[in-house]
Amino acid sequence: MVIVGGGFGGLKLAQSLAEDPVEVTLVDRRNFHTFQPLLYQVATAMLDPGAIARSLRAILQDQGNVMVRLGTVVGVDWAQRLVRTAEGAPIPFDTLVLATGAVTSDYGIVGVEEHAFPLKSTDEALRLRSHVLARFEQADVHPELIEEGILTFVVVGGGPTGVELAGALMELIHKVLRKDFPKVPVGRARVVLIEATDHLLGGFGPASQRHAFETLRSRGIEVRLGEKVVGASADAVDLGHEVLRTRTLIWTAGVRANPLADALGVEQTSGGRIVVNDDLSVPGRPDVYVIGDLAAGRDTSGGLHPQMAGVAQQGATHVAAQIRRRRDGLAATPFRYKSKGIMATIGRNAAVVEVPGGLRFRGRLAWVMWLALHLQRLVGFRNRWEVLSQWAWNYVSYDRTARLMVDDATRALAEPTTLSASATLSTGDRQRAATPSGSPETFLSDADHPGRPEPPVGPAVQPISSASDRYAGK
Ligand SMILES: Cc1cc2nc3c(=O)[nH]c(=O)nc-3n(C[C@H](O)[C@H](O)[C@H](O)COP(=O)(O)OP(=O)(O)OC[C@H]3O[C@@H](n4cnc5c(N)ncnc54)[C@H](O)[C@@H]3O)c2cc1C
Repeated sequence: MVIVGGGFGGLKLAQSLAEDPVEVTLVDRRNFHTFQPLLYQVATAMLDPGAIARSLRAILQDQGNVMVRLGTVVGVDWAQRLVRTAEGAPIPFDTLVLATGAVTSDYGIVGVEEHAFPLKSTDEALRLRSHVLARFEQADVHPELIEEGILTFVVVGGGPTGVELAGALMELIHKVLRKDFPKVPVGRARVVLIEATDHLLGGFGPASQRHAFETLRSRGIEVRLGEKVVGASADAVDLGHEVLRTRTLIWTAGVRANPLADALGVEQTSGGRIVVNDDLSVPGRPDVYVIGDLAAGRDTSGGLHPQMAGVAQQGATHVAAQIRRRRDGLAATPFRYKSKGIMATIGRNAAVVEVPGGLRFRGRLAWVMWLALHLQRLVGFRNRWEVLSQWAWNYVSYDRTARLMVDDATRALAEPTTLSASATLSTGDRQRAATPSGSPETFLSDADHPGRPEPPVGPAVQPISSASDRYAGK
């Protein structure tokens, strides 16, 4: 059996098969598993990347029936039953499970791909962290550039990732960088959160949405609701009616299925997800399954499942059960995702939690619940310990231990850009940028219902797992 992707779904599936008489090859283009819900903390210097990532070989080294293979899968030869990789010999399979997740989507908006910072991987989180720190270094040397937006940080997408990132960025600036850069007028730094709908945290109840809005506003974040980015350049973001001068556009506004799906000749939704049967197998290919963000699994009312870690993990457990059922000659059963609840943190001592059945939590208690759950779901004792110790240190000292610039960010000091916003975003650009089929809405866990164009879905709402649904590592 071949599993492509060692993320939430692929890793969980490999671990679920530990006791089964099946030889598994797990292929991933990275040699480590990433805990994406905490990427924003790496980007804001709260955590080292090693605290939220772990080598796949280390996680699976005691599991005798799994081999890990580093490789980028580029296609499948269905006739020969081979998985093709960019780097080496093809890998034969009897059963294939695709779990390559999703990638950032810019919806074709002019300039976003070139100029925005996505947040889907540790590399991207580190690049963003270096970039933010470099802007302060630049302001230290060229304070006149503050006027041109070097300390204006624009976050697009008011879902949990955007809300979390905006809150953490503001805290980094005011609690940490203010002390690091005594000459820089940090009060002039701006964090602007842009959301296309009229509320933050789509998928949450109105009280939680209002709480997030008010908390962010009270912490100095400029929350712009009902606004859309129609274009971006190296030094500006165009909102149609207004151009914001900035060197930092952070894009958390949506995802689409991993492009591997486009190369497979299978049926896809408009967001690129692979159409699957009720049991998560591919139509006409009973021994090929798709799980997680890549799969277009549907709930009983026909809506697409949200692209969330819990869906990927429950899908993995389901596929493991289907493989056993096939072995035993039993009929397939449908996959039913059971939501354990949703949560989002807004910053220090502030979060919202909604549990099925109507229980709602806000503020410090919700924040402690958020911390505890994320610690529990992290893979491995070492990661938990690292995260806990870095959180504890940050909390008591208002310090951020991980504020290192790891790329050649010093180049930014030598080449201060002085282009004006109006010079870089032409009217033509703006016209071309008129959003194509859909607008950059926020993440909505239930946004993929039929009858409307597939909108951005993605790091929607954070599931609350129970001990039985634990993000299990060793
Ligand atoms: C910033 C951020 C915050 C999030 N926060 C939350 C949250 O709080 N709660 C929540 O429930 N969900 C959250 N999510 C969403 C959650 O992370 C995803 O739903 C989940 O990771 C999907 O699991 P998956 O197994 O489908 O894909 P992933 O976990 O993305 O794993 C895909 C794997 O496939 C590998 N891969 C990709 N392409 C190839 C290829 N061609 N060949 C080989 N390997 C390949 C990748 O390296 C990766 O290891 C967040 C996502 C992001 C980006």
